[in-house]
Amino acid sequence: MEDFKALALKERQQLQFLARGRHGNFINGQTVAPSSGAYVAVVDPATEEVVCEAPDSDAHDVDAAVTNARQAFENSAWTRARPADRERLLTQLACLIEQHGDELSALETLQSGKVRTLARMVEVGAVSEFVRYMAGWATKLEGQTLDNSIPFPPGAKYFTYTKREAVGVVGAIVPWNFPLSIALWKVAPALAAGCTVVLKPSEETPLTALRLAELAIEAGFPPGVLNVVCGRGETTGAALSAHPGINKLSFTGSTSVGKAIGKASVDNMTRFTLELGGKSPAIVLEDSDPKFAGHGTANGIFLNQGQVCTSGSRIYVHRKIFDDVVENFVNAARSLKIGSGFDPQTQLGPVVSKRHFERVMGFIDGAREEGAYVATGGKRAIDAGYFIQPTLFTNVKPHMRVVREEVFGPVAIAVPFDDLEEAVSLANDTPYGLGASIWSQNISQVHRLIPRLQAGMVWVNTNNMLDPALPLGGFKQSGYGRDLGRASVESYTEVKSVCIAL
Ligand code: NAD
Repeated sequence: MEDFKALALKERQQLQFLARGRHGNFINGQTVAPSSGAYVAVVDPATEEVVCEAPDSDAHDVDAAVTNARQAFENSAWTRARPADRERLLTQLACLIEQHGDELSALETLQSGKVRTLARMVEVGAVSEFVRYMAGWATKLEGQTLDNSIPFPPGAKYFTYTKREAVGVVGAIVPWNFPLSIALWKVAPALAAGCTVVLKPSEETPLTALRLAELAIEAGFPPGVLNVVCGRGETTGAALSAHPGINKLSFTGSTSVGKAIGKASVDNMTRFTLELGGKSPAIVLEDSDPKFAGHGTANGIFLNQGQVCTSGSRIYVHRKIFDDVVENFVNAARSLKIGSGFDPQTQLGPVVSKRHFERVMGFIDGAREEGAYVATGGKRAIDAGYFIQPTLFTNVKPHMRVVREEVFGPVAIAVPFDDLEEAVSLANDTPYGLGASIWSQNISQVHRLIPRLQAGMVWVNTNNMLDPALPLGGFKQSGYGRDLGRASVESYTEVKSVCIAL
């Protein structure tokens, strides 16, 4: 633990952003203290030390942010910006994210426990490419000219077309597992489409969102175009979701909160996108190489401590190779180096918070009490900090909570199946439908399986791989709408139809 504290201290001393100790919201280009004067501590989950404080905002702060975002949408230089200007600004923002990669990745590791190499790869590398991808869409949004058959009055002629217009002020509410990436999955397409944004990060991980807003000003975005209000879900988040000045809400988080946000949106007829929870299956077919599948499915669940919405937490393996795959999975799990995200050797960091640590341990203890067999892990990994051993349960029953509910930690179950029909029915036996992976070299069986899986994303011989162009979203209770890709940027627009009598 002392080593972890020393590693974290070394990084903290280099982060000027943290020297402020206490942060404000970012509204209309300025740092503003929360009106209540209340703050939430940001805690490093590897050391349990308080890193700094961020606002615990109330409805007044949310209202100030929405009002400024509205003014920026209607009256500022932003309204006059050409698509090419929006493209240039977003490209500039992507460059700044890369230039500040050391700082941003260190902030992510401090606030979430994420392994630094992963933070660099995903929260800086992949996300700056995503921002560039969305910058390109600013100049490519288009409507259609449509032939029409309007018969009245006889002989009349009309010219009809559609155009896409920015939806308006966007409220973006995001979780703590990939704080900067998921924030930008909403912010970048919204800005590409010409919207303005009020971003609410998770109360556990507000730092990179606040830094992002400063970088947006440096990139040249006018004040008020990107605002950040920090605070807890049930107060700040609820105030933002219920605000009548929001034209579109884009939410990523748990299914229960997503449903509440959907209901609040419908009351105001606010447009909404919901990216929600998952309990994704990995299906290992009979022909699979057990070592490849064992290691691959272990990577599929343990990336980011299992705190990935699409992580493959239910592993179904053909009975003939079940023991072999499980043995390889267990070997892979036991070989993972657990420790501070700042140690370059670390592969598994802590989970995000004390609250989440207790929740995940509750699932582990509950599964054990219900009779599941611990094939590996099942315990706290290090005495202090929120570290959990990578865990696999076998001998599980379909009704167990660890089988049915999203754990969102380094915990998987493995179950044998006898034929493809059984594999399909086990995989789809969940209210969720976010991701799925198939492990096989049998291309015809793979192609037969893909259409039968109720999931928004299917991977074959890999898991969790994303691309800016590939839409991400859920079937069933995993969501509504899509992040990433063309589908995402278009969801920040309204289609206007025009009919001109000639
Ligand atoms: P969460 O639902 O608790 O919180 C998400 C965000 O919503 C946070 O900013 C939180 O402050 C806010 N919030 C909480 N209650 C609210 C309320 N009543 N009104 C408005 N806002 C509220 O989720 P979490 O624990 O931060 O994140 C984990 C969840 O996110 C998991 O279920 C995971 O699967 C999901 N997730 C989904 C995707 C996806 O693309 N589908 C990606 C990442 C994470």
